[in-house]
Amino acid sequence: MEKILVSACLLGQKVRYDGSGKALADPIWQQWLQQERLVAICPECAGGLATPRAAAERQYDGRILTCDGEEVTEAFERGAEEALRLAQQQSIHLAILKANSPSCGNEQIYDGSFQGHKIQGQGMAAQRLRESGVRVFNEFQIEQAKAYLQLLEGRLRR
Ligand code: SF4
Repeated sequence: MEKILVSACLLGQKVRYDGSGKALADPIWQQWLQQERLVAICPECAGGLATPRAAAERQYDGRILTCDGEEVTEAFERGAEEALRLAQQQSIHLAILKANSPSCGNEQIYDGSFQGHKIQGQGMAAQRLRESGVRVFNEFQIEQAKAYLQLLEGRLRR
């Protein structure tokens, strides 16, 4: 059975920078949980950052800075490597990650100004996974993720 790497906060784990979670209500989530298909990681925690922590955004030069001006790029890189290590260890080809995060965002991220502006871009873990061949969706793309899962499992059955 294909497993799915997921952002831990989407499972309700209180790992977000402000100490909250963002559990997904979609019924397929419960089904996948029962099937033990979901493999959770919070790349920022895996990279050694504490919860709660200062909000961070990716800058135009690729570095990650907190709203206090501290550079946390290395921790984000470690977390991205941990996410990839876990995906490879469990032969995972599909991830569903939290939209807009500087680690997990797959299409958009905040622009680094801490003004709430989003731009096209990827979080560090999402980018690392994608570069290594993992398809990355966000929590608003569950239907696309389901379709991709079916495709993967169809290929496996052949
Ligand atoms: Fe959620 Fe990813 Fe941020 Fe961790 S790094 S809190 S999993 S969005």
